[in-house]
Amino acid sequence: MVDDHKHCIVCGKAIEPDKFFCSPSCEDIFKKQQKRVARSRLIMMILIIALFVSIIVSSYI
Ligand SMILES: [Zn+2]
Repeated sequence: MVDDHKHCIVCGKAIEPDKFFCSPSCEDIFKKQQKRVARSRLIMMILIIALFVSIIVSSYI
């Protein structure tokens, strides 16, 4: 059995199957969340690279 509706991925309200959000404000919230996730992923990447570089540098000393 296939559900003929989806839920807004931000607030969980029932929406049409070809949509992701119930309203433009939910779309806005989602975009802001994505931006935050992307930024924290970038910070994580920088920390890992910094750790990696410090391990390499300390192995040379
Ligand atoms: Zn919503």
